[in-house]
Amino acid sequence: MSSDDSHARSEHPATATVSVHALSCGHFSLPEYQFVHPVSQEARRTVPSLAFYIQHLHPDTSKQTRIVFDLGLRKDVKRYAQPIQRHIKTRQPMTTNPDVIQSLASGGLQPEDIDYVIYSHVHWDHIGEPRDFPTSTFVVGHGAHSLLNGTSSSLRGGHSFFESDLLPEGRAIELSDPLVQTLEKHNSSTAAGDINFEGSWRAHGALPQTLDLFNDGSLLVVNAPGHLPGHINLLARTSDNRQIYMAGDACHDRRLLTGEKTIGEWNDAQGHVCCIHSDRKQAEETIERIRKLEKEGVEIILAHDIEWESDPANRTRFFGAGIG
Ligand SMILES: [Zn+2]
Repeated sequence: MSSDDSHARSEHPATATVSVHALSCGHFSLPEYQFVHPVSQEARRTVPSLAFYIQHLHPDTSKQTRIVFDLGLRKDVKRYAQPIQRHIKTRQPMTTNPDVIQSLASGGLQPEDIDYVIYSHVHWDHIGEPRDFPTSTFVVGHGAHSLLNGTSSSLRGGHSFFESDLLPEGRAIELSDPLVQTLEKHNSSTAAGDINFEGSWRAHGALPQTLDLFNDGSLLVVNAPGHLPGHINLLARTSDNRQIYMAGDACHDRRLLTGEKTIGEWNDAQGHVCCIHSDRKQAEETIERIRKLEKEGVEIILAHDIEWESDPANRTRFFGAGIG
């Protein structure tokens, strides 16, 4: 190793960062009453399913770690399980062009370049097509496995069907339970800059459970309970000294953040009360924490954030938008 290298090793940047780009991964349409209240029964909006490309650079080795957060809609909807295909009929109009593969390609990346796919949760409109990522390791929050295996308690609503064979065998990690304190594993990496999914959940400001993925504060997994078991968000620090919170389905509509609307409920054919969140109270608490972050200046981006997507200022923040 040259003396220049050893010099660089001692000069870690005071604050480690990641880069974050949005990936356009299809659009579909939602009946608004299933998400917000009060609203007319007929109101519908077409929303994006956003994913994110996150890149981390190791300060010592310059090793790049490439992460995609969510995969959006599956390009060929006929490859969804039958119950999901039936549900999709209620989500029209819908387009899957571009999908995550095309969005990555527009920035010059192939699926094989992606080290990790982290799912915010395993609802159909976030899972994309795992078979398109033959080498990536898939990461899900605690509880996702039992949902996929059908061993979780029943969830009402047509949106909650899961594919038991979703995750590739041998290439999937389920994070530990954020509510159970575990001893840091001795053999797990603790060096700043190395990715580690087995660290301890710790409080970060108003967020009670976060996982510092690179042990350098650049990218935190945030426990975001309420929407679905295993629902997680990401909080990223970027080089322009900003923080970006990728909220997944913690909230589907910005009017819930402003307090203009409350969470919607509806009755299914059997008269059961349904909610898009599996635990409404926890979902409200998660939304409250996101409100606090926004007040602190953190940028909030929802997975179905039509306002963020249609803001012209964000056009160049899609992967590949500045290339070519
Ligand atoms: Zn969802």
